[in-house]
Amino acid sequence: MLYLGCHLSASNGNVTMVNTAMELGANTFAFFTRNPRGSRAKEVDIADCERAMKLLSENHFGKLVAHGAYTMNLCTAREKDRLFAWDILKDDLYRMGFLPGNFYNFHPGSHVGQGTEEGIRQIVAALQYAMEQDSPVTVLLETMAGKGSEVGGRFEELKAIIDGVGSEKIGVCMDTCHVYDAGYDIVNDLDGVLQEFDEIIGLDRLQALHLNDSKNPFASHKDRHECIGSGSLGLETFQNIVNHPKLKGKPMILETPNELPDYAREIALLRQMERE
Ligand code: ZN
Ligand code: FE
Ligand code: FE
Repeated sequence: MLYLGCHLSASNGNVTMVNTAMELGANTFAFFTRNPRGSRAKEVDIADCERAMKLLSENHFGKLVAHGAYTMNLCTAREKDRLFAWDILKDDLYRMGFLPGNFYNFHPGSHVGQGTEEGIRQIVAALQYAMEQDSPVTVLLETMAGKGSEVGGRFEELKAIIDGVGSEKIGVCMDTCHVYDAGYDIVNDLDGVLQEFDEIIGLDRLQALHLNDSKNPFASHKDRHECIGSGSLGLETFQNIVNHPKLKGKPMILETPNELPDYAREIALLRQMERE
């Protein structure tokens, strides 16, 4: 089963997102747990969560891939700001508990000059602080482009975070634009990249994908998303991805620079690419 979706606005609640997703031909979706720029989050609407969960199961959706705020930096240098970010993570995971069984993906963080090792140490500490023992949420670390001081541009860094946390409820979301920008050649050697992922992290940890083309060439460490087929990855790469046996059944989320009608077009295009 191909689970495809895109980023949706959470401002009208979960049930609205499920209905919008269906109108777009999606059977999963992503949303920001709070305003991506600010940090305010609304009260949890438990009735809305329960109705959404029922709709998702009735309509055979794949797992949702919520996205933490871009501004949440778990390894920022100033301790006061860092601890604030850790509390945001904790609150996000608490909220996601009302949509049990789904994923919460986030950018691991930027170490802002503290060094990758210290960044990883702080991200691990943040997750140990925020993750509850019996939480129904699996946390996903996003593969990053390696822009600036970003942590998570190398599979080894994600592996170090996963090992440091030592939980079953932590996995990885592979962003196609980011990995290509980071220097993993999914255009010419998707099999090789997945094999490397398997050797370093383990493919059982790969839980979701972000499908984005890239505005920049291989290993550029830039992170600028392009529409599917219009960038340096190209249509064939996405055809390989949606048909790859090792990626089967994983939710795939579009984060391309589009409005909703264009998302619907891209979802339809990707569905057409799926070989029976
Ligand atoms: Zn992201
Ligand atoms: Fe992404
Ligand atoms: Fe990105």
